[in-house]
Amino acid sequence: MTKPDIRHLNFEQLQNWITNQNLPKYRAEQIYHWLWLKNVASFDEMTDLPKSLRTLLSEQFEIKKIQTQSIQISKDKTIKCAIRLFDNNIVESVLIPTKDRATACVSSQVGCSLDCKFCATAQLKRKRNLDYQEIYQQVYFIKELAKEKYNLNLTNIVYMGMGEPLLNYNNVLKSIEMITSPKGLGMSPQRITVSTSGIAKMIVKLADDNVKFNLALSLHSAIEEKRQQIMSISTSNTLEMLANALNYFYQKTGTRPTLEYVMLYEFNDSIKDAQALVDFCRKVKSKVNLIEYNPVENSPFKKTTPERLNAFVEYLEKHRVIATVRRSRGQDIDAACGQLVNKNQLALS
Ligand code: SAH
Repeated sequence: MTKPDIRHLNFEQLQNWITNQNLPKYRAEQIYHWLWLKNVASFDEMTDLPKSLRTLLSEQFEIKKIQTQSIQISKDKTIKCAIRLFDNNIVESVLIPTKDRATACVSSQVGCSLDCKFCATAQLKRKRNLDYQEIYQQVYFIKELAKEKYNLNLTNIVYMGMGEPLLNYNNVLKSIEMITSPKGLGMSPQRITVSTSGIAKMIVKLADDNVKFNLALSLHSAIEEKRQQIMSISTSNTLEMLANALNYFYQKTGTRPTLEYVMLYEFNDSIKDAQALVDFCRKVKSKVNLIEYNPVENSPFKKTTPERLNAFVEYLEKHRVIATVRRSRGQDIDAACGQLVNKNQLALS
């Protein structure tokens, strides 16, 4: 019989288990500390517990830990990690360092069920959702890597790896609960961004759940027919539904959502497209991130030119839409946005 995973007990459940064994309550604190703050891989590492308790724990529970399958380092210092999950499936997590910041980009699903035409992950079928611990452990791992390789503290987390986070809602929220909990990594939710392809009713749910983290919408076109051509999810989640959901999110949480917009050459980078984006921004209080397109195999798109990008940005500025242009990172190792496809792992999986 397989033993239950001890990290599936919340703190109260662990306390109850301890009490039922007639052990002092503070033991639960100690164990929880080892499990989440120290992220240990075995009960033997819990050195301040008596040997008898460690044995009892290992008889009754299991500790699961993700493994690093491989890491690749880009010339711009971005590091892509292939992570082996509890059942040997593989996802990718990325460390994006700058001089004084380190961002972890984590995956929420094995593959993805959506079929966005410009994204490499879309070429992998969705196999399953990640468990919240698998997400938490990716963050933990990237945090240690940032320290070890670049002596940087982890400052930001983005849910922009493989998968659609809002289609794995409970695990994503639970992972953030532990990342922000003082019993976990104690990070501020303002340092966390969840990116979604745009599932209106789940955005409304985030608002109703009064979340404190940031939300980014992958907009990519503010013209309905165009968006539908590249993101089939948008046929059932129209721009109007998304605008309403985002406004509701802002009204409930006080957090201004970000709109992500990948600049695709002669597809969504004309002045007419900029006009539509300005109109959308008039309806939705938001910030805009313009993202450089990263080449994906078998994709019909090309990245925009500097001239077209400048004209686009100028138009936005003239109409008082503030846009940040995001430089791409880790392209040479296929670690950039939309490039995560387990390329070097395909033979293994
Ligand atoms: N499924 C979520 C999160 C993953 S993608 C979402 O759709 O938001 C993270 C960001 O990278 C999204 O904005 C996505 O649209 C973008 N992206 C996908 N493919 C890309 C590519 N080839 N180049 C640049 N950005 C891309």
